[in-house]
Amino acid sequence: MAFVAVMLLVLIVGDAASTFLYHVPQHLWGKLHLRVHHDRSRSYWDHAVISSDPAVLLDGVLGAFPYIVIAFVLWPASPAGASVGLVLGQIHVWWRHTTELGWITPRWLFRVARVLQIVLPEDHDGHHRNPDVEFGDIFRFYDAPARAFIAHVRSENRRRRLVMRRLERFRTLKALRQGQQQPAQ
Ligand SMILES: [Zn+2]
Ligand SMILES: [Zn+2]
Repeated sequence: MAFVAVMLLVLIVGDAASTFLYHVPQHLWGKLHLRVHHDRSRSYWDHAVISSDPAVLLDGVLGAFPYIVIAFVLWPASPAGASVGLVLGQIHVWWRHTTELGWITPRWLFRVARVLQIVLPEDHDGHHRNPDVEFGDIFRFYDAPARAFIAHVRSENRRRRLVMRRLERFRTLKALRQGQQQPAQ
């Protein structure tokens, strides 16, 4: 029982932590992930799975770090569950980058994955093509909250820029008026 619970927690909580503490912040404020994971000039299979480029490896390690922390915390409850959770997470990384190798999900697996909300290679390929969609490494239910959070932060930024621009205009007008009121020397 502990084995299954720990294994699932490593995958589910690990994905939440990786998505909201690394992936989404990278899309909003970072450069590393966008540069290495959304570079359409390179093969995704190559850069996500077999590349030894330090920047690519760093992106991978930072993305995997939250899963490792969760596995470490849950290790005392079930070392086997924590290990299998990490191994399955790694296998999913390889699998979700196989679209370029010609992987096509069979219909039955597509249906099962949709019920379990598991990210398919085709879904993850959608994230490579359009960085604004298909968040969540392993589970699709993180996509909607991730997009909502990104949209919220972007609209807040727009609102702040608008307020700053109005303030700037107001200050310029005020300075101009004060200039006009100065008696001519
Ligand atoms: Zn990818
Ligand atoms: Zn991304």
